[in-house]
Amino acid sequence: MHELPAVQQIIKIACEKAAAEAASKVVNIKLVAGDRSGFIGESIMMYFEIAGRGTVCEDANIEIETVQSKLKCASCGALFVRKPFEFSCPECGGEGSPTDIGREFYIDSITLM
Ligand SMILES: [Zn+2]
Repeated sequence: MHELPAVQQIIKIACEKAAAEAASKVVNIKLVAGDRSGFIGESIMMYFEIAGRGTVCEDANIEIETVQSKLKCASCGALFVRKPFEFSCPECGGEGSPTDIGREFYIDSITLM
């Protein structure tokens, strides 16, 4: 459910950008969403379709790039994607700890027409 306020915010930003550049339409919005961001692509699309109606964002294409979350090795500093049930570093076998990679959620680009 928390996707709706995020989508409304995205639409607001895109509409402001369109207005600032005197564009008539938002063609494409590219988002980056980490797999631990808590945002689900399908929900974003669904809310976007509803919330974007009647705005310059109507019918815009939503592109979502997913970022896999990564752990950082405490011993050698390597960043790696966690395998199921495993936390150890593929380089040295050290213990990995969570990083912010995979928690991001932001607008990468907005294409106007
Ligand atoms: Zn390591």
